[in-house]
Amino acid sequence: MEIIENKETRPLDFIRQIIADDLQTGKHQGTVTRFPPEPNGFLHIGHAKSICLNFGIAEENHGRCNLRFDDTNPSKEDVAYVESIQKDVQWLGFDWGEKVLYASDYFPQLHAYAVELIQIGKAYVCQLLPDEIRQYRGTLTEPGKESPYRNRSVAENLQLFEQMKNGEFEEGTHVLRAKIDMASPNLNMRDPVIYRILKAHHHRTGATWKIYPMYDYTHCLSDMLEGITHSLCTLEFQDHRPLYDWVLDTLNTPCHPRQIEFARLNLTYTVMSKRKLLKMVEGRYVEGWDDPRMLTISGLRRRGYTPASIRNFARTIGIGKSESRIDMGVLENEIRNDLNLRADRRMCVLDPVKVIIDNYPEGLIEEMVGKNHPQDPAMGERMLPFSKELYIERDDFMENPSKKYHRLGPGREVRLRYGYLIQYVSHVTDETTGKITEIHCTYDPETKSGSAPDGRKVKGTIHWVSAEKGLPVTVRLYDRLFKVEDPEADKAVDFLEQLNPMSRVIISGAVAEPSLAALQPGETVQFERQGYFCADPLESKIGRPVLNRTVTLRDSWESKGQL
Ligand code: ATP
Ligand code: MG
Repeated sequence: MEIIENKETRPLDFIRQIIADDLQTGKHQGTVTRFPPEPNGFLHIGHAKSICLNFGIAEENHGRCNLRFDDTNPSKEDVAYVESIQKDVQWLGFDWGEKVLYASDYFPQLHAYAVELIQIGKAYVCQLLPDEIRQYRGTLTEPGKESPYRNRSVAENLQLFEQMKNGEFEEGTHVLRAKIDMASPNLNMRDPVIYRILKAHHHRTGATWKIYPMYDYTHCLSDMLEGITHSLCTLEFQDHRPLYDWVLDTLNTPCHPRQIEFARLNLTYTVMSKRKLLKMVEGRYVEGWDDPRMLTISGLRRRGYTPASIRNFARTIGIGKSESRIDMGVLENEIRNDLNLRADRRMCVLDPVKVIIDNYPEGLIEEMVGKNHPQDPAMGERMLPFSKELYIERDDFMENPSKKYHRLGPGREVRLRYGYLIQYVSHVTDETTGKITEIHCTYDPETKSGSAPDGRKVKGTIHWVSAEKGLPVTVRLYDRLFKVEDPEADKAVDFLEQLNPMSRVIISGAVAEPSLAALQPGETVQFERQGYFCADPLESKIGRPVLNRTVTLRDSWESKGQL
């Protein structure tokens, strides 16, 4: 796969700086990072930021980045998610080496470490109920209270933990807790639960385990077991770092990865949490995780985004330590920049009205030549059949045009892209609907090159398609999924009420130039004057294209409204 990337010329971000320093001082001989998704949903553009960071750093330093599924919560996880996540990471152009890793592969080691914690008096089995544990934990202003089970003997703890493991207790009746400090100002350090009983089927280990390790406990140890040098995560884990370090220090592990936090990506006009995306999928507000309006990687792919555009986006927004919301326009610009270079130009009339060229010979079809790219001759040409009857865009004609309107209207002459100049003669209006049904014109046979030999100026150029030879296509005009910048800002309003009702407009009467019949599913073209459109990878067929609008040609959201 070809990935166009700009050479890095900016100063290093703070994470890359730390890593460069660690290599320079000899603290580390190489760099090992990891991307640790939980297989409980599809990846979204926020994950792409993390993927580009982790895999990008590994690439730049000739290191390694592991793909590790954090699969410690069997009730919410699914193999379908595992598969989609691998596909997405690969599609973005990254390589995790020999094999995919799973936290569940470490269950035996994690269990052994838990036993060790018990043996050194640093973990205990607690029988408080979940609600009681919460109450005992205290608040930010009040210290917690010690559990009455905190000072059991090592032998009793070992015995009970073994019974938990063997499935002798019911869910919620016993947990294993780290013995740290119930008075710590950091709530995460108040004897956090590290193992719970769950009698669920795990997608990899089946019914082997009746107890599952908690995320914080699992994560640091998995990082350590893989020899991760830098464990990069989002800011909400900052308060968990003392626990990350406590587990590794207390167990005196052979290596101790460094956790570094960065700000997560938030984007305008979307929501990012998997929980909310799942709600949209399950409530059928969208067609699925890969609906082209979803900011999931699979949705973006179907919409026509390229891996390069997403990687460039990640580079453009950079890495920082403070939360912010990036304008959706930044992402849209990246795909425009990319497609502007690589998309073939085509003509398609979305809202056709018929033009009849009165003086054009009946039955004659001429082949006009259109460039696939105006600046890049290497991209070649295609033939455009020209005939007596054509379609043009309904809004390229006005009965009473203003001075600034340079397209077709009474008394006007206009240029047909790669075709002749045509001159208005008359038009026909349907009396019942008030709609214009035909526009009659004449053409100037001397203007096949697009200009008049007598030098007369024609300002407007419009696109067109032969009525006889044109290909009917289905076009879906996609737009932003939400109508407000921050759908979660108003806590009194459900984010689902902020959905943009115009986020998908299906157009069935569009007609495209015949070359569109050869369009491969997944291929993207620019419809001149309209935007970039991708042949839907799943629904488009050779000869019967279904086109998804990837993005308009310019940022028209503010000026033109939602279409
Ligand atoms: P969500 O909050 O969307 O449900 P998550 O954090 O629960 O996502 P994980 O599967 O745990 O999803 O995420 C895998 C990795 O991706 C984590 O390291 C996480 O920090 C990172 N990540 C998730 N969302 C973002 C985001 N919006 N920006 C940057 N990184 C993110
Ligand atoms: Mg998570």
